[in-house]
Amino acid sequence: MSKREFQTEVNQLLQLIVHSLYSHPEIFLRELISNASDALDKLRHLTLTDDAYKSLPFNPRIDLELDETNSTLTIADTGIGMNEEDLISHLGTIARSGTKNFLAQLSGDAKKDSNLIGQFGVGFYSAFMVADRIEVVSRKAGEDQAWRWISDGKTGFEIEPAERSVAGTTILLHFNEEGKQYANSWRLMEVVKKYSNHIAFPIFLTYDKSQWNEAEKKSDKVRTTEQVNAASALWRRPKSELTDDDYKELYKSISGDSQDPLFWFHTRAEGNLDYTTLFYIPAKAPLDLYQAEYKVGVKLYVKRVFIMDDAKELLPPYLRFVRGIIDSEDLPLNVSREILQQNRVLTSIRTASVKKILSELKNIAENQPEKYLEFIAEYNRPLKEGLYSDYANRELLLDLIRFKSTKVEGLTSLADVKTRMKAGQKSLYYITGGSESLLRTSPLLEIYKKKDIEVLILDDEVDEIVFSGVDKYADIDLKAINKASTSDDLKDETAAEADSAEALKPLLEKLKATLGDRVKDVRASVRLADSPSCIVTDEEEPSPQLLQMLRAMGQKDIPTPKPTLEINPDHEIVKKLLGRSDDSVTQDAAWLLFDQALLMEGVPLPDPAAFVQRLNRVLTHSI
Ligand code: ADP
Ligand code: MG
Repeated sequence: MSKREFQTEVNQLLQLIVHSLYSHPEIFLRELISNASDALDKLRHLTLTDDAYKSLPFNPRIDLELDETNSTLTIADTGIGMNEEDLISHLGTIARSGTKNFLAQLSGDAKKDSNLIGQFGVGFYSAFMVADRIEVVSRKAGEDQAWRWISDGKTGFEIEPAERSVAGTTILLHFNEEGKQYANSWRLMEVVKKYSNHIAFPIFLTYDKSQWNEAEKKSDKVRTTEQVNAASALWRRPKSELTDDDYKELYKSISGDSQDPLFWFHTRAEGNLDYTTLFYIPAKAPLDLYQAEYKVGVKLYVKRVFIMDDAKELLPPYLRFVRGIIDSEDLPLNVSREILQQNRVLTSIRTASVKKILSELKNIAENQPEKYLEFIAEYNRPLKEGLYSDYANRELLLDLIRFKSTKVEGLTSLADVKTRMKAGQKSLYYITGGSESLLRTSPLLEIYKKKDIEVLILDDEVDEIVFSGVDKYADIDLKAINKASTSDDLKDETAAEADSAEALKPLLEKLKATLGDRVKDVRASVRLADSPSCIVTDEEEPSPQLLQMLRAMGQKDIPTPKPTLEINPDHEIVKKLLGRSDDSVTQDAAWLLFDQALLMEGVPLPDPAAFVQRLNRVLTHSI
């Protein structure tokens, strides 16, 4: 027998579990049954697709056996099983990025952590909430040797050879104090019905049933085996037969989430293609949402038979937070991953599913706006990724995304912004690059405030990249106000400034000579009301903030585009400068106007010492 240590992360997780952060220890049964069901799914798939497994017997079932006297429970399945190596890697380490991520988020504050863990299925290890000793005997399909894995959940685990007549896994739990309540057939049936009623395989419970013995006028204990779940593929039943609780239960059993989902969309398509989809939106965004190795949340079934749960092609990546099931009548049972990638049936199902999900969301946005905001709080950002990647659904996505704005508190939709457009207003405007507070105080907003034109505040770091590719909403131009071209709505100003531009010319020339190759141009601004200066970038060039971000992401070789400095002809400083002929003052002013414009855009100054020296010179003069 060999003794082994758990990986550090497993120890961490077990610590949490033992300290009972989980408020519903009963979920241990849901986790073990869902593992058994996964193992059966996997073996079924192999027997259908892999010649080496075709001849193996497949008699799928899950058996719970209760020993009330000794307070033990076994959960046995006839699934794929595990060999020695599998036992070590699956039950001794944590491979899932979601779990690791979860552990990284723990704060050490038991109360906060218990909320977190509540949203998160901890899988197999949850059994240590109710058991102080667990023995797993498993035999992998296609192999003869079985193995026993034993652990108290504290000091690591042991592994030794064992016997098992058929492939599959048996898990023996020795209940602890907390677990004793489950050494009760009635309680077990209740928990199975609650969480695992619609697992596709039959679950049997063997226990001592009380039976009335008429002859002896007493009740006898009779060892009995009964099926305790409905074992129906719930998603294939008509909506009218299903209750909210049915949907929620199925969600929890397929997602490992213990919170109720926000929404679900159940669709049965008949005709050209025959398929059923049931999609759920989790109340909280999955913890691996922003990881490259995210876990796929949609399972593919063919004619009620599980095919795979890791096919990234079922939905576009921006909808990776969606959980659920796609069940097709038209795909072959032995469909392979390679086939999936260019399968016409799947492409049609995928296209229809995306439309379905987005249009259902739009319905909710219109009919339950409050509830919709709960969705937006978690998923506004992935929707923006969709703008970038899903051109076909751009209009729908633009209607679903919510924005901060200069005109309203909270969030607003583009449709609403459109209704608030001024008479004669030609475009919709937004500002990107920087935090919300930086953007809200940007000098670039001044003229829009003055003209009472609404500007969207796009403060998410993906916004600049995403929205630079979106130039219209419902035929109205969408424009970034920190880009150089002057908008149609400022045309009046442009004309009015034309005269003063002539007078300004010598000053502009001087400023430009001073700033040299740090700027592309210096010109009179039409967008400023209160500030003396601002910087703008060319339409096709990255803004200073985007540049900082790209560099932070490792793209070191992007040249710094030169900004254009704009000055406000109506500002006191500029007016006074016009009357000065001494070059030293104009030079200091040139740099101070430029540096303050950079600061307002949140760009760090390349030479803060020079900035301070100039500022002090100017202060000295003025005091
Ligand atoms: P998850 O099910 O999310 O992968 P678990 O902690 O529940 O995480 O299980 C870890 C792994 O252990 C599973 O992915 C699977 O490979 C293996 N496993 C657990 N239970 C069984 C079982 N009954 N039969 C076969 N493999 C199992
Ligand atoms: Mg599991």
